[in-house]
Amino acid sequence: MATRYGKYLDENPLRPARDFYRTKRMKSQLEQEGPVFNVDLFCRVFLNKLLHRQVKLPSQATPNDYYMALSHAIRDRLVNRWMKSTETYHEQDVRMVCYLSAEFLLGKQLNQNLLHAGCWNTVEEGLEKMQLGHSLYDLMAQEPDPGLGNGGLGRLAACFLDSLATLDIPAIGYGIRYEFGIFEQVIEDGWQVERPDYWLQLGNPWEIHRPEYMVEVKLGGHTEFYIDDEGWQRVKWKADRTVLGTPFDMLVPGYNTKTVATLRLWSARASQDFNFHLFNEGDYTRAVADKTYSENITKVLYPNDNTPQGQELRLTQQYFFVACSLQDMIRQHLIKNGDLSCFQEKVAIQLNDTHPSIGVAELMRLLVDEHKMNWDKAWTITCNSFSYTNHTLLPEALERWPVRLLSSLLPRHMEIIYEINRRFLNEVRAHYPNDPAKLARMSLIVEGDDKQVRMAHLACVGSHAVNGVAALHTELVKSDLMHDFHEFWPDKFSNKTNGVTPRRWMLISNPKLSHLISATIGKDWVTDLAQLQKLEAYADNPEFREKWWEIKQENKQDLAECIYHQFDLEVRPDAIFDVQVKRLHEYKRQLLKVLHIIAQYQQLKKNPDTDIQAQLFLFGAKAAPGYYIAKLIIKLINSVATVLDEDKDVRGRLKIVFLPNFNVSVGEQIYPAAELSEQISLAGKEASGTGNMKFALNGALTIGTLDGANIEIRDAVGKENMFCCGLDVKEVKALRTRGYHPREYYNDNPELREVINQIACGVFSPDKPKLFQPIVDTLLNHDEYLLLADYQSYADCHAKMLEAYQDRDNWIKMSILNTARMGFFSSDRSIAEYCRDIWHVDPVEVEVPDEQIDIPIEVYCPS
Ligand SMILES: *Cc1c(COP(=O)(O)O)cnc(C)c1O
Repeated sequence: MATRYGKYLDENPLRPARDFYRTKRMKSQLEQEGPVFNVDLFCRVFLNKLLHRQVKLPSQATPNDYYMALSHAIRDRLVNRWMKSTETYHEQDVRMVCYLSAEFLLGKQLNQNLLHAGCWNTVEEGLEKMQLGHSLYDLMAQEPDPGLGNGGLGRLAACFLDSLATLDIPAIGYGIRYEFGIFEQVIEDGWQVERPDYWLQLGNPWEIHRPEYMVEVKLGGHTEFYIDDEGWQRVKWKADRTVLGTPFDMLVPGYNTKTVATLRLWSARASQDFNFHLFNEGDYTRAVADKTYSENITKVLYPNDNTPQGQELRLTQQYFFVACSLQDMIRQHLIKNGDLSCFQEKVAIQLNDTHPSIGVAELMRLLVDEHKMNWDKAWTITCNSFSYTNHTLLPEALERWPVRLLSSLLPRHMEIIYEINRRFLNEVRAHYPNDPAKLARMSLIVEGDDKQVRMAHLACVGSHAVNGVAALHTELVKSDLMHDFHEFWPDKFSNKTNGVTPRRWMLISNPKLSHLISATIGKDWVTDLAQLQKLEAYADNPEFREKWWEIKQENKQDLAECIYHQFDLEVRPDAIFDVQVKRLHEYKRQLLKVLHIIAQYQQLKKNPDTDIQAQLFLFGAKAAPGYYIAKLIIKLINSVATVLDEDKDVRGRLKIVFLPNFNVSVGEQIYPAAELSEQISLAGKEASGTGNMKFALNGALTIGTLDGANIEIRDAVGKENMFCCGLDVKEVKALRTRGYHPREYYNDNPELREVINQIACGVFSPDKPKLFQPIVDTLLNHDEYLLLADYQSYADCHAKMLEAYQDRDNWIKMSILNTARMGFFSSDRSIAEYCRDIWHVDPVEVEVPDEQIDIPIEVYCPS
């Protein structure tokens, strides 16, 4: 099939997702100082790994063998720091941050670990010296991108781990080792097609299996009362099946510090005895086949972003990893402390959204049922241990589990949730004696025929702190979503605006700009991003401006080459790179951008010879596989792209490229090359956004709505350095109160009307004129996200932006000022705030003598 992505389709579907985007050369100036690891020692270690790990001689080795050998050689350089970190925390019995997240969108490990181990240049030189025929960058391309997350939420968890380690905070991340991460997206005939992500197929050199820390997790069955030895009435959970959780650890090295934190991911295994009776009955094959039931639990990441899938397997995943993690915390606690009475002093457990919120009931069960603690004491420990981050206001995204499902999968937890609710509602009733409506609103249970548990309420009641992820978002959590809870416990709520790690999103992804910055203001900005402010002094310096512009052009050129080699598409590097990359969701309004591109195309058709700024519109977005309209929007983007490509009048002045399989590695290539960042969600819908931060940090200007962290970005960079458009939250509310009728905008705006008419009559789908009718119907009849209401404001703002781009000097100045003023949006700052206000943890320095890092290794070295 001839498509715009010919080459891409030729790839073997069984190969692990490979990204063609080249990793960039690191500049030596950016390395942290480490113990001297010389080129010769590296070469010996590397060849030793090749021989003893991969069991290959260089003459037999594949590029993957080299990648594996290299990764093991680098991992070894972090192991002593890691062991020392663990030992230090154990010996000093410190308070640990336990970050519970169903997703960690890590991105590649080799680049990050080379940087943090401080041996990028040594390795690069060593590989050249050995003349293997593969550069460091070839070997980096072998690594599959570990996509254990959907989008912003999972990426936040990854940035937070980097900052925790860099700030020397004792921390462990707990999550799920999905055998299949987020699907690989390919585009066929303009449509999204999903392919499984075989990221573990060739082995994962970064994980360390720890079967000795295996734990057992119970599921199903029923509960029974019994009287214990001391005469107390107690409850026993008689589960009808068990599975085993086995941990895989990954290293999380800090930058410019000895600290190495841990990411512990759980994998499900069949327990030895669950099929015992089948063995006894002689049905050996079925008994073995049944293993898959258990092992399915961690098989695949649910690919929905901001829409929970209320499936039993998903709830099982959530409970599984939380139960494993809490047992792991308790095991470690009991080694150091005789009992659990001071558990709350030794852990700070953060719930990344409600996905791990069943942990509140599980910790109560462990304390009360298994460790025989009384309820009140157990409840105090639980509330003091947990804190909860809310990530969304979208009503459809709030997790609610049917009572029926919870009762059958976790019967004891359901009883505990009812008891938590009974006591909680008594408290509320005491404050508001005659307000049954309030009780119903605050209850953990939605009553009715199909009773449900509101997981956000469970998380809030069971935590001592609740936070939103941007100033506006937190205000809306307090005023709307959790209004009653905020009134009841005003001090529980606080804001912690998200951030991104400058290590991955500047040093690794934009080495050229990083180098220029370090050469100008020194290197400290890497761990103290506020220092970027010093760049303001250079914003008017013509020489500096020229270098700044030059680097952006080079980054654009690099991306253009990738696009050419991979997709056979030529893009004009003199075009403005106007980029919208993020999950495909109606609230993020990729469709608004498409409407405006079509409008510009119409204008061009009317005056084909007007002199306009060439524009390259880059999109990247995965749609949830079951999200029909989102997938149709991807098809529309690609269909408009084809029409633009085939129209002789356009002459490359308007061009769309949809980059398939947007992930962390693709992002590393895109953010540094972007000139305009599209952040146009409907006000009140995007909790924070973090893509917005990566763009602005890399010197892109933002066109955006007053939503999420865009507002704080505008306050930081100055409204004269950003293009703001659209209704704000107040105006959205007022419009909805008045009554929103999208057809009025359609009738009143000829340009918009023509755009929609063209989509409706098949201009972009000549073979199937009605193909995009569902898009037209939603726009004209519901338009839940007010695209038509914001259309003209966006179009006007975009025109202003294009005008501003013509004044190159001033544009560069704005770009420099954006970067210079983004210091606040480091995840280091976010984590420091969590530490100070929520976790109450302090840094702990890990000391490792240099000679313990550079262990002399006597190795047999094949010549
Ligand atoms: C940063 C990032 C996101 C989040 O982007 P938003 O624009 O904030 O939605 C999603 N996916 C990946 C791969 C990212 O790196």
